[in-house]
Amino acid sequence: MPRTPRRPKATIVALANQKGGVAKTTSVASLGAAFAEAGRRVLLVDLDPQASLTFSLGIDPDTVEASVHDVLLGRAEVADVVHHCADGVDLVPSTIELAGAEAFLLGRPAREYVLREALEPVRRDYDVVLLDCSPSLGVLTLGALTAAQGLVIPMPCEMLSHRGVGQLLDTVADVTKLLNKKLRVLGILPTLYDGRSTHAREVLDDVGERYGLPVLSPPIPRTVRFAEAPAVGRSILATARTSKGARAYREVARQLLQVL
Ligand code: ADP
Ligand code: MG
Repeated sequence: MPRTPRRPKATIVALANQKGGVAKTTSVASLGAAFAEAGRRVLLVDLDPQASLTFSLGIDPDTVEASVHDVLLGRAEVADVVHHCADGVDLVPSTIELAGAEAFLLGRPAREYVLREALEPVRRDYDVVLLDCSPSLGVLTLGALTAAQGLVIPMPCEMLSHRGVGQLLDTVADVTKLLNKKLRVLGILPTLYDGRSTHAREVLDDVGERYGLPVLSPPIPRTVRFAEAPAVGRSILATARTSKGARAYREVARQLLQVL
């Protein structure tokens, strides 16, 4: 009998920016749905104690029995806590308990590697794993950067919105040197973009050169559709299939698939 070839391991991509409100969670949900539409097997991991991703995929964090918190504490395997979501993606949910994981991990050796090791057993079950980071550069985000092969930095096209990107890139440089040589910055993802604003266009033109990074395109337009989607537990790709925002995320997903 010929042996079936083993499936390759999923590529793990972190979406991180220590600023809140830059559309990390929206981008994880939307890109995840776009990858699933394109036939990829997708796992999303909510690494924010605020559990916005969990909530926006239709799961009430208060009713979740086991979460990423239990995984990081070694009390559960990833495969045991996964939820299958309506958008065609799998989710490792978060709950407010995760706020305590940071303190727990601080007292552990090799804490930055805990997430990477936890994901290893399921990597052949997926093509892409997206990590939704919390708005900080704490232990959980360092763990995400250590587990990932790729980093996408969501960034609104607004004045001062890129303050902090330098600090994030310093952290990436440290992680690359000390913890994870495979980490590559895949690019800045311009979000909340208002094409009518001259200022937004200037920020968009300037940012790639300023940081020497690729800028993913098209920029994700600011539209009220995004505020509506989480209320029904689906991403904008399902609630507003043909909207400009959904099309922009599909195109960014298509580009990312070429470099993953
Ligand atoms: P983060 O995870 O970085 O904190 P979120 O994804 O939660 O950011 O987005 C912050 C807020 O901005 C949310 O209320 C979300 O619905 C809204 N939002 C995200 N992307 C867009 C967009 N393209 N247009 C309009 N509102 C958006
Ligand atoms: Mg978020």
